[in-house]
Parts: sequence; C-alpha cells; structure tokens
Amino acid sequence: MDIKSVGVIGAGQMGNGIAHVMALAGYDVIVNDVSEEALNAAIDRIEKNMSRQVGKSQITEAEMAAGLGRITASLDIAAVGQTDLVIESATENEAIKNKIIEGLVPHLAENTIVTSNTSSISITRLASRTDRPEKFMGFHFMNPVPLMQLVELIRGIATDKETYESCLQVVETLGKTAASAEDFPAFIVNRILIPMINEACYTLYEGVGNVASIDNAMKLGANHPMGPLQLADFIGLDTCLAIMNVLHDGFADTKYRPCPLLTKYVAAGWLGRKAGRGFYDYRGEVPVPTR
Ligand code: NAD
Repeated sequence: MDIKSVGVIGAGQMGNGIAHVMALAGYDVIVNDVSEEALNAAIDRIEKNMSRQVGKSQITEAEMAAGLGRITASLDIAAVGQTDLVIESATENEAIKNKIIEGLVPHLAENTIVTSNTSSISITRLASRTDRPEKFMGFHFMNPVPLMQLVELIRGIATDKETYESCLQVVETLGKTAASAEDFPAFIVNRILIPMINEACYTLYEGVGNVASIDNAMKLGANHPMGPLQLADFIGLDTCLAIMNVLHDGFADTKYRPCPLLTKYVAAGWLGRKAGRGFYDYRGEVPVPTR
C-alpha cells in the first residue's frame, strides 16, 4: 500500500517527534490528543526542534516551512481514522490504548494500517481489540525520534506481509533502519537493554561498585557512550521498573526479577532526570551520584 498520510495519536514527547520526522519526509500528518494544551505544546516543540535543525544546516528554511505546513493538530479522532497509517503513541497504559482503539475503529477507512508505538504492551493483544488484526503491528521509535536511527517493527501473530512491507517502506523513507521483531515481551531493544540496567542496579545494591565506578566501568570498559545508571536516569526509573515487570510477568522467569533498590528509588519518587533526582542528583550545577 502506498502511504501518503499519517495519523499520530498522542502528542507527548514521542508523538511530537513522530509527527516531526513524518512531516519532513513528505507525509501529511494529523496529530491528535485529548489535551489541547498537549497539542499546542507539541506544535511549539516541533517548530523549536526544526529551527535547531535549520541552525545546524541539516534542513533548509523552505523544508521546515513545508514540513510544518503538512502538520494539522486535531482533537477529533475521526479525522485520524481516514489517514493511510495510524501510529498510536498515547500514554503507556493498556486501558487507555484500548479505549483509543475502541474510539478509532468506527472511523477507520477500509485500508488504513493501525500501529502502536508501545514500548512493552503485547501487539497481539492490542490487535485483538481492532477490526483488522492483520493490518495491525508495532511501530516502535526510539527517543528522541528525530535523532535515533532505529525503528523496531513488531509483528503480532496475525500481521500480514503487506502490512509489514508497507511499514518497512515508511521506515526507509524516513532514512531510518528497521529491526524486525516478533511479539514477545519488550521486543528486542528493551529485552536486552533493561535487564542490563537492572543488573547494574543489583551491582550497586550488592555494593560491588558505587554509581560512579559502575558507570565509568561500562563507559570505559565496554565503550558505552553512557553508563547504565546514567542511562536509567535518562529513560526514567519508573519506566525501567515497568519494563522489568512486563518481562517478569510475561516470561514468568525469576531471572527478570526487578532489583529491590530500583523499586526503592521509584517508591521514593527518585525517577531520574525528569524528577531532578535518580541515581544522580541533578538539582545542582553538576549531577552528583546518590551512592
Ligand atoms: P507522554 O506522556 O509524553 O505523552 C502521552 C500523550 O498521550 C499525552 O500528551 C496525553 O495527553 C496523550 N493521551 C492520553 N490519553 C489520550 C487519548 N485518549 N487520546 C489521545 N491522546 C491521549 O508519553 P510518551 O513518552 O510520548 O510515550 C508515548 C508512547 O510511546 C507510549 O506507548 C510509550 O511506551 C512509547 N515510547 C516511549 C519512549 C520514551 O522514551 N518515552 C520510547 C519509545 C516508545
């Protein structure tokens, strides 16, 4: 199927990035949210991020103007249903996503492909809430969307070949690379990355190293651009814990048990950068390790 228009549901940090890259790649984009404030903030953020790209000569003023001209913000889900490709990118909560799907299905055009940017929820289960499980799949971007090269394409049990290939083509037009994944808990990137972060938490919990030594060890010893605890703070410790719980529940395997220290940081509200404190304290001039 030749995709020309894209509907993005959820105008948060991921949704605005998805609308941004789709519009620059030439797709007509409708971005939808329940909150007018979120829609206004998303358009504002896209303008700022595109301006930054103009400043770095990555895109021209004309490309920015054309890209912004292709984006429509709408509180109306019906318009989204008429696009060729819907990417649901609302809050990571299955009840919310089910409700969105329920509201969307009656408005869908016959051939519309429906996808979700979920980081952890079963694609097969979400697909079962639609009238078209064969035209449903996971379209999982990385954060921040304009900078990150990878998109995971996740096939639910019923996803057909044409749907997969149409989505693959879209990823290629974005200049990004797809990794194809089957639908199992946390897919590929988070299945590997989050247990590594959880293991770094155990290493800290057991006193094998402190925050600085663990992060330095992995930066200098494994050539990672960021230490695992620094990365956990960037992702959000609540998100890391939620994904460990998805792995633990989904595989019923104790090797995925969340580290009690990670649970404790989350209980304290020390959620990482967004909360001003996590494994590092960000409230001063420079981040200070909390252990
Ligand atoms: P966010 O909290 O920044 O944004 C979520 C948006 O969804 C909000 O603007 C909210 O108003 C909107 N929303 C809530 N209910 C809605 C509804 N019924 N209809 C329309 N919009 C609704 O969240 P985010 O970080 O952008 O995450 C969105 C999705 O992307 C989640 O599924 C998440 O797992 C996934 N994801 C996140 C990351 C990340 O690093 N943050 C990375 C990859 C994928």
